[in-house]
Amino acid sequence: YYSQVKFSISAPDISHLGPDEGIEIAFAGRSNAGKSSALNKLTRQKGLARTSKTPGRTQLINVFTLDETRRLVDLPGYGFAQVPLEVKKKWQKSLGEYLQKRESIKGLVVLMDIRHPFKDLDQELIHWAVAADLPVLALLTKADKLKSGKRKEQLLMTREAAMAFCGDVTVEVFSSLNGIGLDQLQGKLDEWFGL
Ligand code: GDP
Repeated sequence: YYSQVKFSISAPDISHLGPDEGIEIAFAGRSNAGKSSALNKLTRQKGLARTSKTPGRTQLINVFTLDETRRLVDLPGYGFAQVPLEVKKKWQKSLGEYLQKRESIKGLVVLMDIRHPFKDLDQELIHWAVAADLPVLALLTKADKLKSGKRKEQLLMTREAAMAFCGDVTVEVFSSLNGIGLDQLQGKLDEWFGL
């Protein structure tokens, strides 16, 4: 199903996203967290989301269509140090607005490097999502970088930390290199899309 995805539009901000109808699931994460790789893995399309050679370069929201009513939304990566404060502020404002005002958004996937979960901006984003009553899937990316014992330990620790958000926050490990966690990601998306 997810391989039938098609690029729809790039939008500079949420006012250019198109009609607020159907079901939308958003992907967010720090630059370099592995968001593009995860989207490409999910959709089995190597070049769908550009993996970032220059982190923080793209500040556009990219929308991908799955069928008439379902969309994946690739939000701009955040947390790149060299981005000017003004740009960061603008980004934060538009992201907050998107999570709070967009009716069609039904879930947020937050991608975080398994070795550095819940950095400040990740936490802020998840807080906004919880405040907007939006379920969150926190994906611990690059799980192949850890041995299975360490990976499990990190997963349990992160799950415990996720309880502090007091919301619907699920944590799973993921690797776009070897496909760990792909079933769990698809399962969650299926649930949110009502498939
Ligand atoms: P984005 O900025 O969040 O879109 O991150 P990218 O998908 O461009 O990935 C950033 C870097 O991490 C690239 O060099 C990828 O090759 C690498 N990467 C992404 N996912 C994985 C993964 O699952 N395992 C490993 N080992 N490297 C990954």
